[in-house]
Amino acid sequence: MSQIESARVHYTVLLFYKYVTIAEPEVLATHLKTVAEKLGLTGRVIVAHEGINGTLEGNILSAETFVTSILQDDRFADMHIKRSAGNGASFPKLSVKVRNEIVGTGFTKDEADPEVQTATHLSPKELHEWFRSNKDFTVVDMRNNYEFASGHFKNSVQPDISASRHLPLAMPKLEPLKEKTVVTVCTGGVRCEKMSAYLLSKGFTDVYQLDGGIHTYMEQFPGEDFKGTLYTFDKRLTMDFGGDREVIGQCRLCGATTEQYVDCAEDTCHYHFLACAECTNESGRAYCSPECQNARV
Ligand SMILES: [Zn+2]
Ligand SMILES: [Zn+2]
Repeated sequence: MSQIESARVHYTVLLFYKYVTIAEPEVLATHLKTVAEKLGLTGRVIVAHEGINGTLEGNILSAETFVTSILQDDRFADMHIKRSAGNGASFPKLSVKVRNEIVGTGFTKDEADPEVQTATHLSPKELHEWFRSNKDFTVVDMRNNYEFASGHFKNSVQPDISASRHLPLAMPKLEPLKEKTVVTVCTGGVRCEKMSAYLLSKGFTDVYQLDGGIHTYMEQFPGEDFKGTLYTFDKRLTMDFGGDREVIGQCRLCGATTEQYVDCAEDTCHYHFLACAECTNESGRAYCSPECQNARV
């Protein structure tokens, strides 16, 4: 392909999940890996007995061929597949793995089993109306704290966790919402299936989860209600859905407005945080704290 032709190639990043019993995860993983490899896709897919969770990038034709293929499998025929613009380099390689869970929560089946009980799905349109009508509800953002930093729904509550498995630590903070109307949100919805189920198992009475996650909300209502930009676990780091939006990310070190993520330069830390250009050195590195800076000496 000539340079001119390759510049015209457009890439799509697919994001999908479904909780459904997979009798033989290894068989499915091998099959998906073969299909994705043939199409030259990159990204990550996790297969477990409880379902599938994946994000893949490829040129538009390859990505759509993959979509057609996976939707032909009866187990995934009704799976919602989200698409965003890629750049051809969102992932370093293809990884298809079998794990115990499709989201690493460590919750027991009693604490969260989306196939038995999960919160009612609230469509982006319904949530949009709730915001417009000033209904009494609270958005609880189930993503990690560093994801929340670059963008989140207005007036939302963050459990302030660094990984999904830490949700139990945030329960004292969420306790006052137990009798209130709560809407859980996350990037594409997969984490909310379990996180909202966990809240229900802990006695929360009126819990909803945003259908299709923040991704779908921003596609339908770009620049509205969700302030800032959507963090993504690939090399793009953030996704832009257009719309007239503001930048709300702040440099952890000086407070300046920024949407630039860096990993702490201290090798034993690697904390992922927002740091402005002023606070990063020539090679784009920064330390998250004085402790990390001093650890060097
Ligand atoms: Zn700064
Ligand atoms: Zn650090």
